[in-house]
Amino acid sequence: MSPVIPIQAAASRGCADAPVLRERGQREVFCGLTGIIWLHRKIQDAFFLVVGSRTCAHLIQSAAGVMIFAEPRFATAIIDERDLAGLADCNEELDRVVTRLIERRPEIKLLFLVGSCPSEVIKLDLSRAASRLSGRFSPDVRVLNYSGSGIETTFTQGEDACLASLVPSLPASPEAVAPELMVVGALADVVEDQFARLFGQLGIGPVRFFPPRHANRLPPVGANTRFLLAQPFLADTALALEARGARRLAAPFPLGVEGTTAWLQAAATAFGVSATTFDAVTAPGRERAAAALARQRVQLEGKRIFFFPDSQLEIPLARFLSRELGMALAEVGTPYLHRAHMAEELALLPEGTVLSEGQHVENQLDRCRAARPDIVVCGLGLANPLEAEGLTTKWAIELVFTPIHGYEQAADLAELFSRPLVRRLRLAA
Ligand code: SF4
Repeated sequence: MSPVIPIQAAASRGCADAPVLRERGQREVFCGLTGIIWLHRKIQDAFFLVVGSRTCAHLIQSAAGVMIFAEPRFATAIIDERDLAGLADCNEELDRVVTRLIERRPEIKLLFLVGSCPSEVIKLDLSRAASRLSGRFSPDVRVLNYSGSGIETTFTQGEDACLASLVPSLPASPEAVAPELMVVGALADVVEDQFARLFGQLGIGPVRFFPPRHANRLPPVGANTRFLLAQPFLADTALALEARGARRLAAPFPLGVEGTTAWLQAAATAFGVSATTFDAVTAPGRERAAAALARQRVQLEGKRIFFFPDSQLEIPLARFLSRELGMALAEVGTPYLHRAHMAEELALLPEGTVLSEGQHVENQLDRCRAARPDIVVCGLGLANPLEAEGLTTKWAIELVFTPIHGYEQAADLAELFSRPLVRRLRLAA
């Protein structure tokens, strides 16, 4: 049997009831438009039309890089001074842009109008625009809307808002059908395939992934739906699914051997999979990942890590890095702490971990400098200044762009942290 890191004994509640430092102040995060970069790759016949300013256009263009070989499936309808003068013109202009786009790109089946700070400031009602345009273009094209605005949000909330806007479009499960599993949160296709194989071997099915790869494969939802969150930033999506009768399976997130095993176990328990089958199916993945992690542990053990609040992945990452790689947690900051979704993660964090929620960037920079961690996880805006001060950094956004979930990716995830440390050591040598 493979070595499994034991889930912490029930006697210790880790950080389940730990105090949290709540901060409100200036924040250094990307906005929700960033999610378009991974969502447009995931839903292969969806188009994301940002209704925003030149700044918004610049942000997604530079985040996505320049696409040479494929026509991108995102764009920005620029709100200019003329639009600011009259909303009626703005709506007409938007209808014109959408009509032209749909005529030119017949492969588009799902169009998201994505709100931004400027569209919110001028109170452009994109939900009315979406239903007006949906009326005109359905059933060929469904038009939905959500906000990616950076006002009071962080970048992963773009995915949450997008998926929550899709939930009302999911077909209803027929009543009295057997329980079905839904995995919620955009995963790299390769990871999705690995999980689908594991669930298949466990005898759990049907399993649906949300978001799907194609707009015409929206998973059904209803009282028979049991869902596992694959990402920790999907609070609104979870609420919307629950409102449609689905039930969340509480679990840590599938990062590292321990998180992946516990996440799969939550589904196995709900679907009545025997312990013997579970062990036999998961053992090869656990063993491979544990062996690969042992190599990374050499670089990371004993190193101190400081998390600025950014992706909302911070708590599951801290759990993985401390328990499976022996790293010490200087501070774990998160933009929002969803106590219910994080309950299993918090219980696994070492007691006494410094947790913070929200951001006051100056105060947090002071704490970070005082802690002198070996590595800092932060947004792009903070990384360069901190590097210039001699600190080693890891960009939080890379953790969302890279496949990091599941057994086969556990060592790659660890390597994202060891690589900058090794590079710093080489530079210092
Ligand atoms: S949505 Fe707001 S924060 Fe994001 S790029 Fe546009 S203006 Fe900037």
